[in-house]
Amino acid sequence: MLDCLTMKTVAENLALVRKRIEAACEKAGRDPAGVKLVGVTKTVPVERIREGVDAGITILGENYIQEARRKKELLSDLPVSWHCIGHLQTNKAKFAVDCCNWVETLDRQSLALELNRHAEKMQRTIPVLIQVNLGAEETKSGISPEDLPAFFSRASAFERLDIRGLMALPPFFDQPERARPYFRRLRELLDRLRQGSALPEKLSELSMGMSGDFEVAIEEGATLVRIGTAIFGGRT
Ligand SMILES: *Cc1c(COP(=O)(O)O)cnc(C)c1O
Repeated sequence: MLDCLTMKTVAENLALVRKRIEAACEKAGRDPAGVKLVGVTKTVPVERIREGVDAGITILGENYIQEARRKKELLSDLPVSWHCIGHLQTNKAKFAVDCCNWVETLDRQSLALELNRHAEKMQRTIPVLIQVNLGAEETKSGISPEDLPAFFSRASAFERLDIRGLMALPPFFDQPERARPYFRRLRELLDRLRQGSALPEKLSELSMGMSGDFEVAIEEGATLVRIGTAIFGGRT
């Protein structure tokens, strides 16, 4: 299927994004195997998601649990991992544990409690990332950098939560370079948590960078880049 604006197929867009990821890794002296691509599929129709998975996407990121549940049912034959990347209401924790492989947006104690409770019931462990609000933006959720160490140690007590790293959604800038200090900050915050952790190798993920700034994020250490429009085209 062709995207009307760019006349490029999902597979062509994906190939281009992969090239750009490789170039950013080369520039940063990193192994491209250390950067996983999350295809962000909010509002993207299932046929188009299928094209992306056929072209090699293995992780899908969804913002809304209801949408994720519906799509997962329609795409249940696909060998993909589902990541929750949107704000998660506490009363949706059950569905998130049921349908998502990872939750990238752990941002408060009440959510940790509910995720843990449902994971326990379903006899699974759920990998999570702690979302950090780097820009102290009121419209965005996330733990403040100041509260992060205390939150991390409290959340670590939940046996069914497997805390793997940090996620952030920095303020939006037209110029990707301006996001660099935020990405660097997230990396420093992770390094600090690792220094104080008994199992530093478990804390290895940094989910940061989107269509407009993923190259800069990779240069600053991203291990998960969440890319929507550059692969699937503009959202309606
Ligand atoms: C929509 C979204 C993305 C992807 O944004 P694009 O600019 O389309 O690549 C990444 N992360 C989160 C949390 C999002 O909501």
